[in-house]
Amino acid sequence: MANTIERDRIVEARGLNHWFGSGDARKQALFDIDLTLERGSFTVLMGPSGSGKTTLLTLIGCLRAVQDGTVRLMGHELNGASEADLTALRRRLGFIFQSHNLHESLTATQNVIMGVQVRGRVSDKLARQAAARALGLVGLSDRLDYRPGNLSGGQKQRVAVARALVGNPAMVLADEPTAALDKDSAADVIDLLKRLGAERGTTTLLVTHDNRILDRADRILTLEDGRIVATTEVS
Ligand code: ADP
Ligand code: MG
Repeated sequence: MANTIERDRIVEARGLNHWFGSGDARKQALFDIDLTLERGSFTVLMGPSGSGKTTLLTLIGCLRAVQDGTVRLMGHELNGASEADLTALRRRLGFIFQSHNLHESLTATQNVIMGVQVRGRVSDKLARQAAARALGLVGLSDRLDYRPGNLSGGQKQRVAVARALVGNPAMVLADEPTAALDKDSAADVIDLLKRLGAERGTTTLLVTHDNRILDRADRILTLEDGRIVATTEVS
């Protein structure tokens, strides 16, 4: 039974602390974070600028090294993990950032193919098919060969959603993905993340300032000054 419970927790952090800088400039960014994310859940991480949201997201996403405390991701302890193990874990995650981070010289399809390729070796043909399917899911079937410069902000962020979800990552980590979007595009992007995540059983951790997103969450965590000050279950 214990194993079942363990498997349902894709992320478990205990006593997580994090510091930046050294000497006099050393500053603590996270304090004693305890956090559990259930498989398939959609969690929103809120909090003012500078409260530690990105730091927490990047620690869970294996994008920076855990200094103190424990973080178990899909059953693997990240504190002390080798770079090779972190890279392997990172390949099972999908990332979306505030700025879409698409390659300007590549088409929508080629950008999404890069998302396929990080997850492992796939033939060009299969990668292209997977990319086209993912772009179809985000409503961009008619934009497969467009470059980012010819897409709207909302469309670019939908390409980024397709790139993050292609190849079925276990978990999607999104850092203020709607910050640069107007209200309707922001709602589209969040609804896509929510719907596609639910269909696939993907766990989603989404950082946002955006109050409009809150009613989409299963759970809202609020960070302030590096501490989780509130956990709200949304029914
Ligand atoms: P948020 O994403 O909530 O805006 P961050 O996690 O980016 O907050 O930052 C938390 C704190 O850590 C802030 O005080 C920020 O200045 C500091 N910080 C973040 N990244 C770095 C860094 N690379 N070097 C030094 N300080 C940093
Ligand atoms: Mg941030």
